[in-house]
Amino acid sequence: KKYIYAFEEGKKEMKSILGGKGANLAEMSNIGLPVPPGFTITTEACIHYIEIGEKLEESLQENIFKYLKDLEKKNEKNFGDLEDPLLVSVRSGAVISMPGMMDTILNLGLNDKSVEGLAKKTNNPRFAYDSYRRLIQMFGNVVLGIPGYEFDNFLEKTKDQKNYDNDTDLTVADLKQIISDFKELIKERKDIEFPQKPEEQLLMAVKAVFSSWNNSRAISYRNINDIPHDLGTAVNIQTMVFGNIGESSGTGVAFTRNPATGENKVFGEFLLNAQGEDVVAGIRTPKSISELNNLMPDVYDEFMQVTKTLEEHYHDMQDIEFTIQEGDLYLLQTRTGKRTADAAVNIAVDMEEEGLIDKETAITRIDPEDISQLLHPNFKEDELEKADLLAKGLAASPGAATGKVYFTSEEAVAAAEDGEEVILVRKETSPEDIEGMVKAQGILTSRGGMTSHAAVVARGMGKCCVAGAGEIQVDEAEKKFFVNDRVFNEGDYISLNGSTGEVYAGIVATTDANLSDNFKMLMSWSDEYRKLGVYTNADTPHDAEVAIGFGAEGIGLCRTEHMFFDSERIISVREMIVADSKKKREKALAKLFPYQKDDFKGIFKVMQDKSVTIRLLDPPLHEFLPQTDRDIKALAEQLSIPVEELRRVIGELEEMNPMLGHRGCRLGITYPEIYEMQVKAIISAALEVKAEKGYDVKAEIMIPLVGSEKELVILREKAEQVADQLIAESEAKISYRIGTMIEIPRAALLADTIARHADFFSFGTNDLTQMTYGFSRDDAGKFISKYLDQEIFAKDPFAVLDQQGVGKLIKMAVKLGRQEKPELKVGICGEHGGEPASIDFCHRTKLNYVSCSPYRVPIARLAAAQSAI
Ligand code: PEP
Ligand code: MG
Repeated sequence: KKYIYAFEEGKKEMKSILGGKGANLAEMSNIGLPVPPGFTITTEACIHYIEIGEKLEESLQENIFKYLKDLEKKNEKNFGDLEDPLLVSVRSGAVISMPGMMDTILNLGLNDKSVEGLAKKTNNPRFAYDSYRRLIQMFGNVVLGIPGYEFDNFLEKTKDQKNYDNDTDLTVADLKQIISDFKELIKERKDIEFPQKPEEQLLMAVKAVFSSWNNSRAISYRNINDIPHDLGTAVNIQTMVFGNIGESSGTGVAFTRNPATGENKVFGEFLLNAQGEDVVAGIRTPKSISELNNLMPDVYDEFMQVTKTLEEHYHDMQDIEFTIQEGDLYLLQTRTGKRTADAAVNIAVDMEEEGLIDKETAITRIDPEDISQLLHPNFKEDELEKADLLAKGLAASPGAATGKVYFTSEEAVAAAEDGEEVILVRKETSPEDIEGMVKAQGILTSRGGMTSHAAVVARGMGKCCVAGAGEIQVDEAEKKFFVNDRVFNEGDYISLNGSTGEVYAGIVATTDANLSDNFKMLMSWSDEYRKLGVYTNADTPHDAEVAIGFGAEGIGLCRTEHMFFDSERIISVREMIVADSKKKREKALAKLFPYQKDDFKGIFKVMQDKSVTIRLLDPPLHEFLPQTDRDIKALAEQLSIPVEELRRVIGELEEMNPMLGHRGCRLGITYPEIYEMQVKAIISAALEVKAEKGYDVKAEIMIPLVGSEKELVILREKAEQVADQLIAESEAKISYRIGTMIEIPRAALLADTIARHADFFSFGTNDLTQMTYGFSRDDAGKFISKYLDQEIFAKDPFAVLDQQGVGKLIKMAVKLGRQEKPELKVGICGEHGGEPASIDFCHRTKLNYVSCSPYRVPIARLAAAQSAI
């Protein structure tokens, strides 16, 4: 098996074996961009290495040295040469980019002797010793596992003693001392000498990269991002180019467009006389790429040309690493740039307009889940004016966040799990902070640039982040931060504006997001492609309005029970429930009728001629019963019955298993007056709105929890009687439909018989999931996490539709239903209706529509379009 490819042997399509970095280095070499020569050891070699117990097979070792020989020829330099050594970098490259998770070793091949040769050869001892100390530092950390800060401490100590501001101030003598301290440290911690044989360094480094695939940070990153654990990482071995030779050298990272806003302008940062991670590590504050134009105009022009070439080649925004070695530009990496949702939308629409991509591509470029970032709140303008501005950092990742400050990832996680809104405050973040970042509302750092770990990771998560707020002094040990003479302690509130970089003391109120023209354009393109209708679940005129703003085409589920909890009405609802005669019940219902009618009128007015599916009362009655002594007393007074008598009635209504009890259409069967009142309210409201406004109101009455044909026959007939009589008596004419939810497995199994009496089906996948699995949706949370841990479930079936099981019932019901009634309208209104993978299932199953909460409507429109492309 071929386990190694020279760059010129690979191409971008070979990502699965060369990893992202290797495949793109190969591609860039082959399209003539300046890439230092190198070769890639494949992900398959990594998997093999792990399978045989973390061993590098003899044959692989030989092969590595064979490719190394070729590299020596290309560079006319020998690895291990004492006078003019070939140095290489060893870098990991997974198939899916995992920022900060895997590791890099630079300047590999140097030792005590060749460092002198390099010093002499380049006539630049500072450069040579700086390179050597970096090698030992990275090797010690990455390969030998000594914590990075132990090395940093020596550097900091020397800088403090000598009063240096920057690493670049270190002299050759300082560096020699540091090198000897580093070697001492390695000996002390690991009881070995820093390896002097370059071949040994190389093999140890390759093994370390392979093994790092299974370090805990990498595993945690993969878990969070749903990346499979069996992909393995490739290793790239590449000729070193040096950004640390002096002021005509440097290193940087750049995006071909702005990753925060999408603006079509190269965005990046660089440092002169620096190497490797210096830019992202926030050691010195980097310069903006535009300054390169002043310092090295030729390099700048060449770089701009390179960014154009890359975009035209990859048809997407690229994230590039580069090094300038004595005025010559080299590319060390390109990959698809991570971006905020806002930038993703702007870039997709701009690129379509520039002719770089077509509409289909633009639509498929956006992760539907990311859309939610655009729909999230910003700070209220007037509140902002009054807000107490503390500091300004970099606008690293947009959005607005308010919360209590915590200074470590663990404390942030613990506080978030206690239900607190958390802002994670750190000097700078590292991959160890990932869990805290996930749980926090926002992230604030006092150091680091736009490409620092905090900024990059927060943008990827769509999380608000202010980075490099230099006015803030963070004392992580004391759990405090200072701004001038003000002190903030753990638990104090602050607010972050990730779009401006502003940091405020206290809580600042937020407003709804406002949608850009590009966003609307993308949505309208989505509408051209999608086959599924997108409806919303809304119970109030306000929610309906929000959903229409987001493009909802109708209401797929209006849950009427939410209307009963209003403080004015609940007493009548309770009166209705405890009524011991039809007459008393009707009296209570009569009080509720005007409220219900107004509820529906409000919604019909907003929805105009769009269809509105209203579900008749569904939950177990006991949910409405008074719980507290005070409420029980109040109700007893209202009904003029003794408290004890009321308690007895309440006791009788208690159920062992309310979710499987007296609820849904069973209420309609036992207390027909309830549904009669609701149907009357729906139809009267529709008639009045039609008369008042002229809208062609489309009321759809939905009967929940049907399990047998007969239930529907009875309830439909009663509803029709009420409705038809009202319509007959009225001047205005409306049409209405009556359908049912399919949320009991029996209804799915017998969907043909049910379809005879239904104008539409709506899959209530919350209940259908609960009943198919036989576990309670209210209690499953207690054990589902264990099921996920043990991989019994890949996903929580209440969040992502179980296509295999519940999906089989849905498919069967669609088929049986349409067999009986070809024009049957079929939709879904469980939570799954707003989840992209479930939406894809609905598309494939040829449902007519999905219905989801208002804020998920745009997500559903995009996901439905992607399914159709
Ligand atoms: C369902 O069961 O999927 C549904 C939409 O109804 P509810 O969540 O109100 O039970
Ligand atoms: Mg239900």
